[in-house]
This record gives sequence, C-alpha cells and structure tokens, in this order.
Amino acid sequence: MNRNEQLFEQAKKVIPGGVNSPVRAFGSVGGIPRFIKKAQGAYVWDENNTQYIDYVGSWGPAIVGHAHPEVIEAVRTVALDGLSFGAPTEAEIRLAEEIIRIVPSVQQLRLVSSGTEATMSAIRLARGFTGRDNIIKFEGCYHGHSDSLLVKAGSGLLTFGNPSSAGVPADFTRHTLVLPYNDVEALQKTFTEIGSQIACVIIEPIAGNMNMVQPTPEFLQSLRSLTEQHGAVLIYDEVMTGFRVALGGAQSLHGITPDLTTMGKVIGGGMPLAAFGGRADIMACISPLGSVYQAGTLSGNPVAVAAGLKTLEIIQRKGFYESLSLHTQALCQGFDQAAKEVGVAFCSQNVGGMFGLYFAEQVPQSYTEMSRSNTEYFKQFFHGMLDRHIAFGPSAFEACFMSAAHTTENIADTVGAAAEVFTKMVRG
Ligand SMILES: *Cc1c(COP(=O)(O)O)cnc(C)c1O
Repeated sequence: MNRNEQLFEQAKKVIPGGVNSPVRAFGSVGGIPRFIKKAQGAYVWDENNTQYIDYVGSWGPAIVGHAHPEVIEAVRTVALDGLSFGAPTEAEIRLAEEIIRIVPSVQQLRLVSSGTEATMSAIRLARGFTGRDNIIKFEGCYHGHSDSLLVKAGSGLLTFGNPSSAGVPADFTRHTLVLPYNDVEALQKTFTEIGSQIACVIIEPIAGNMNMVQPTPEFLQSLRSLTEQHGAVLIYDEVMTGFRVALGGAQSLHGITPDLTTMGKVIGGGMPLAAFGGRADIMACISPLGSVYQAGTLSGNPVAVAAGLKTLEIIQRKGFYESLSLHTQALCQGFDQAAKEVGVAFCSQNVGGMFGLYFAEQVPQSYTEMSRSNTEYFKQFFHGMLDRHIAFGPSAFEACFMSAAHTTENIADTVGAAAEVFTKMVRG
C-alpha cells in the first residue's frame, strides 16, 4: 500500500468516508483520494511526494497560486497579534470597503466564515425584508448545504421541492421552488402565478456546480425584470464566480445588478471567509439594526481578513485578469484541438479563470443537458490525467480553475497529457 492508500484506510476509521467534504472521496470517479501535504504556486504534492499541476485550486480560492509569498507573509504578521478577538477590527472595515469598491451593487456587507453561511443568511434576510416565505432556486445550482437549499425539483412546474438529503424535514423545503436553469418560460409562468409570494430568487450567475453553465442574456434579463416587478429580492450567489470570472464577478460582465450578492472562496485567499451584502435598505434589516438575526464567533476573523485583503490587492495588479483569461483560453483551445484530432466528442469553455470541460458535442445549457454528457469518458480522462500528474476535480459536475501561477509551460504539458489520454480513450 502506498501512503495515500494507508492514510485513506486510517481516515475512514475516524472520519465518515475518510473525508471532511464528500466530493473529496473520489466516489464518482473511483480510486484513492490523494492526501495533500503541501501546495505551492500551480502545484500540489501528495503524501507519496508526487507533484501535480493543480486545476482544483482548493475549488477556487487559490487564484493567485497556492501559498503566495505575500499572502503567507500577511497571515504570519497578523497571526502574531492574536488569532481571534470576537470584537470589531480596523482591517475588516478595509476589506468591506475594498469589496464595496470592486462590486458596486454591494453598498453594505457582512463577513461570515463560509459560503453556506453567506447564502443561508442572505435568504433569511430576503425573507425578513419581504415578509414572504417562498424562494426560487435553479436545478444544478449549489448554494451550500443549509436545509432549505438542499432541494430537488418537484414533480411539476409549480410544485415545491423535495429534500435532496436525508435529515431535512419536507416542511423545510416546502417553500423552495426549483426551476430549470435558462428556462425563461418556466420563470415567467411561475411569477405570473405566484409572484407576490416569492421572497427571493437565488442563482449562480455563471453556474459552476453542474460543471460550468452560462446563462443566456434573455434569462438573466427576465430574472431581473420579473423580480423587480414582483418585489422579490434577486440574490446572486457569486461565492465561486466573484473575483474569478472577472474582478467584479459575473455581475460586471452581464450588466445586471442584483439586490444581494454572496461571496466566498477567492475573498478568503484560502482562509475561511465569506460575505453577503447588497442594497443598504435591505442590509439595514440585519441585527443589531433590524430584526433579522445573524451572528458568528469567528466572523471577520483577523487572520482570514488579512489573507483576503492581500489577495484582493494582488488580483487588482495590472494585467492580472487579462493574463489569467488568456492562459485559461489557451488551455481550453489546446484541449479542443487535441480532442478534435482523435475524434472524441468533447468541448470546453472559459470565463476569466474558470473553465468547463465536457464530454459532449455541445456546451450544456442546463442540468438536464449536462447530465447527458459522457461521465464514463470523464472518469477515464480524470484518471489518465492524474496518472500523468495533473489534477482536476474528481467529478464531471465540477468547474475547473486556473491560477496566476500557472505558466505557458504548465499549459503545454497539460495539453500534451490530454492528447495522450484522448488517444488512449478512443483507441482503447
Ligand atoms: C462553494 C459554494 C458555496 C458554498 O461555500 P462553502 O464555503 O463551501 O460553504 C455556495 N455557493 C456556491 C456557488 C459555491 O460554489
């Protein structure tokens, strides 16, 4: 047994499934998860001392590259002055100011410790603000694991959802309606029938949890106009897309202004930090000003804030996103070309530093379409790449992430490996 195998056996004895978050267990691709002992720049090393080019990037946060020396230095410096105070700090004002400057739809915000907390709090706030209970989410979008968001679609268009996890009472999801992504008609129909009862619509404005799926302009426009017309709060869940697809997130690309935005991943620079914010009149409903309760012992944690501030500084340097986008695009084009040469049904797309790889003829527009992609091919691809020391997320339903530390040489190596893997997939 190698060390990854040994550790997985040990882990399974004390941690359910051996992991602290389910996707890490390699359930959908099979095989043994790599236990990571170190990461630097574009690379991670596992416990067998194997070095991988990493396109997981801790699922998004590592946009400046792992263990960036300036981020590490910022963390080291503030850590010496104490890890947590449970009291306000000056640095958290600076981080809030910085986010507000970068994302103009956010007039006020509150810091929390995870994306799950951010979306859960934003939904409670939307309900408190509107005095309504019902919420709309879209099939294939993930907004963390709070009860009312662990929902799968009901049997008909206007039937409310059923829990997608055991342990969630049906009563908790009774108020969550699940609609198909990019389906303008379903959205219109729903608002026509029950628009006045909808507290909010929450959406990933570029979905990244059913692989990567982009919204159509018509879909986003209807979403904005219908919510406005019916007094429902529009929540953009930019936990993944914020500071990733562009500095200002997806909302800066599509010209749509949401009422509330949730953020996470990149803003913590690898530390546990997330935020929700938006219109000042809505944010004023939060305790202690208003009657919507929300709190956190470690909220605005000084070490996490320092990592976040430094990361935001680095990503605003000249040419950061241009270079990140060009690299990501070059990688996608290399993949497309390699697949075409051997005749694998494959396509890809990127927005900024986020990209999707699909074993399908066309880029999917919804969860249903994504579900038709060839997951058997994905498994072969995933393991073929891992054998060649290149790491992607262990599921066909995950987006992939480029960092500023990835070089053109890394990209060429990745494309070269993909060409070998595609050839093997076709020729057997
Ligand atoms: C990752 C993610 C979350 C959950 O964030 P956690 O920090 O894992 O709780 C919520 N929404 C989206 C869009 C995400 O990608």
